[in-house]
Amino acid sequence: IKDIQDIRNLTRTVLDFPIKGIPFLDILPIFQNPKAVEFIINNIVDHVTSTKEKIDVVVGLEARGFLFGPILALRLNAAFVPIRKKGKLPGKVIDVEYQKEYGPDIFEIQEDAIKQDQNVIVIDDLMATGGTAVAAGKLVNKLGGKLLEYIFVVELTVFDGYKKLDAPLYSVLKYD
Ligand code: 5GP
Repeated sequence: IKDIQDIRNLTRTVLDFPIKGIPFLDILPIFQNPKAVEFIINNIVDHVTSTKEKIDVVVGLEARGFLFGPILALRLNAAFVPIRKKGKLPGKVIDVEYQKEYGPDIFEIQEDAIKQDQNVIVIDDLMATGGTAVAAGKLVNKLGGKLLEYIFVVELTVFDGYKKLDAPLYSVLKYD
């Protein structure tokens, strides 16, 4: 793995998933190659450590945000906190409703997972419309976290999702 193009070449489009007419970008082949995973994590670490602020918490979004989030958190010596679909997290949670392609969905976070004024980044595998990311940002803000940035491995630029976001975004790869 020498550059971003090699990472791009590991992704593939799967037609008609999860329903007919949707071209789904499959990023899972990246995990067939540990050097590719390392390249991506190094790229993100270089980016976030180029700013002076120490990151306290990496928030990963169910489910593919969980593939990158904990590795990144370990490298940043930060906490990892999951945001999950309704009904999956034990104990006291707060929630937010958001719109998915095929109707409303609910995200939850454990209410003691982020402390007031902690520096937080949100990571997911891919941004399309930005709706999922914005919902996660709302949960971080509700708990008093300082949302520094949204991080994505892939950004699908055609949806202009960045316009929805209330914090800066960084993506390793852009697809148009
Ligand atoms: P958005 O809310 O930005 O429209 O959709 C992003 C969310 O849906 C992310 O959690 C992402 O994992 C998932 N998603 C939507 N389309 C795709 C896709 O083509 N490939 C992958 N890997 N994830 C997708």
